[in-house]
Amino acid sequence: MTASNIIDGKAFAESLRGDVARHVAHLKQNHGLTPGLSVVLVGDDPASHVYVRNKGKSTVEAGMKSEEFRLPATAAQGEVLARVEALNKDTSVHGILVQLPLPKQVDSNAVINAIDPAKDVDGFHVVNVGRLNTGQPSMVPCTPLGCLLMLKHYLGRLEGKRAVVVGRSNIVGKPMASLLLGESCTVTIAHSRTADLPGEVRRADIVIAAVGKPEMIRGDWIKPGATVIDVGINRIERDGKTRLVGDVAFDEAVKVAGLITPVPGGVGPMTIACLLRNTVTAACRIKGIAEPS
Ligand code: NAP
Repeated sequence: MTASNIIDGKAFAESLRGDVARHVAHLKQNHGLTPGLSVVLVGDDPASHVYVRNKGKSTVEAGMKSEEFRLPATAAQGEVLARVEALNKDTSVHGILVQLPLPKQVDSNAVINAIDPAKDVDGFHVVNVGRLNTGQPSMVPCTPLGCLLMLKHYLGRLEGKRAVVVGRSNIVGKPMASLLLGESCTVTIAHSRTADLPGEVRRADIVIAAVGKPEMIRGDWIKPGATVIDVGINRIERDGKTRLVGDVAFDEAVKVAGLITPVPGGVGPMTIACLLRNTVTAACRIKGIAEPS
C-alpha cells in the first residue's frame, strides 16, 4: 500500500513507542522510577492470550516492568477481586489491566470498578469515564486515544469539523465521541438503530468506524476528502484465505477519502502504544512527576 492518503499506523505507533521508551529512560535516570504494568488474564481465550503476550513484550521493550497473572476459567469473582486488590496496594504497580472478556460467572463491571482509578490504564472505571465526560484529567481508553492522536497529527486542529462515530460501545464509540467533542467537533453518534446511516456518514469530515461488521461502510458513503479511521477488526474468508478486514470497504473508500487507515496496520498498532503511554502517565501522576505531553 503506497497511496499517499493512507495513514501508516504501524510507523506512527513505532514512533510513539519510541517516545514512551525515552520517557521511561528519563524517569529511571532522574527519578529512580520504573513504571510497571500488571495484566490479569482469566481463562483460556486464545485471542486474549495473544493480546496479553504482545502487551507484555511491548511493555518490556519500552523499559518498563511487566507482570502477568493468570487465573483459571473457573475462577470465582472473589479471586479476581482479590488479585485486583493486591495490585492496587502494590506500590511498584502503576497500571492494572484486566483482559476482557471475563468468564460469565465474573461481573466485569464489578472487577473494573475495583481497580484503583489512578491505575486504570484502560480508562474503563466509572470515575475515569465521568472525568473524561466532564473534561477533567482522566485515563483515556487506549483505542480512542490512538485514533485521536492520529487525527490531531494529520489534521491539526479539529475544531468545527463534523465527525460521525459509528458504534456506541463503552470501550470505543462513546469515549471516541467524548474526545472529539472535547476537540470542539460537531459529533454524531450512529448505531444499529440509526435511520439513515449512509446519509449520516456522507455529512462527515471525520468518520470513525467501530462496528465489528466487515466492510459495512461503503466508498460511496464517504464525503470526498473526508478522513476515515477504521477501528474494526474482522476475520473473513476470501479466495480460500483467512483475512483481516475493517468495517470500511477499503478498496472503495481509499479512492474517495482524503486520509484513511488500513486494516491491518492502522488503528490496531496504536492501541498497545497508547497502553504504554497510559502506564507512563499513570506512574507520573501517582508520583507527582511531570507527565508526557
Ligand atoms: P461492540 O461492543 O460490538 O459495538 C458495536 C457497535 O456497532 C454497537 O454500538 C452497535 O450498535 C453498532 N452496530 C452494529 N451493527 C450496526 C449497523 N448495522 N449499523 C450501525 N451500527 C451498528 O464493538 P466494539 O467493542 O466497539 O468494537 C468495534 C470493532 O472495533 C470490532 O471490530 C472490534 O474488533 C474492533 N476493535 C478494535 C480495536 C483495536 O485495537 N483496533 C480495539 C477495540 C475494538 P448498537 O449499540 O445499537 O447495538
